Amino acid sequence: MGETKTNDEEQKSINIKKGLKKRFPDGRFGKNNPNFKYDIDIKKCIFLYDICHKNSTEIAKELKCTKYCILKVLHDNNIKVRNSKGKNNGMYGKHHTLEHKKHISNINKGPLNAFYGKKHTKETLEKLRGKNSHQWKGGISTENNIIRKRPEYLEWRTNVYKRDNYTCVVSGKKSGKLVVHHLDSFAKFPERRFDIENGVTLSKEMHNKFHKQYGTHNNTKIQFIDFKERLGDLWWKNCGN
Ligand SMILES: [Zn+2]
Repeated sequence: MGETKTNDEEQKSINIKKGLKKRFPDGRFGKNNPNFKYDIDIKKCIFLYDICHKNSTEIAKELKCTKYCILKVLHDNNIKVRNSKGKNNGMYGKHHTLEHKKHISNINKGPLNAFYGKKHTKETLEKLRGKNSHQWKGGISTENNIIRKRPEYLEWRTNVYKRDNYTCVVSGKKSGKLVVHHLDSFAKFPERRFDIENGVTLSKEMHNKFHKQYGTHNNTKIQFIDFKERLGDLWWKNCGN
């Protein structure tokens, strides 16, 4: 097992290097970056990383080198590199400028993309499509989309909106985006799909909140009553008169 993993990792790093070479044909990455330094202040680097909890990008800026120099020093000195998810990520809470986003997008589209001009083989495409895809959910989505465009569905939705006076039944909001939610879920209770009693008007925000708490499959009316009681009370306490 251990050996396979090493091979996998080796292959992965080879692939990354190949991708980088395509993206930066003049070799300005890793050790080839003109800012890459071997003689950085190792003690300071480790101090900033381990004690000050700065990330590699911040330290690189401070020591005027590249992020890879920092990572190399940490690796060479057996310092465990923190994962860069959430708050540990240098981009946490920050946003790329529009200009930079465009730049990234252009790099990914054009000839610098490692996949540029290549095509998946027939076998790969077979693996990616339909039932073979890891995203395949049993053909529900196509069925769902077809039904949701049918006149019965649209009529049902309008009738629910009208009955609820175009108002979110949990928050009382009239403005903003409204949706009609199925109390007993669309997928599991096909016989109740167009039953007006089975629909309820919600603000998009409340709808997301509900599905975040109870998931998106197997939803029931009981869940909604529970949600409304707990959240409705809370809402009234905070915002109601
Ligand atoms: Zn829903």
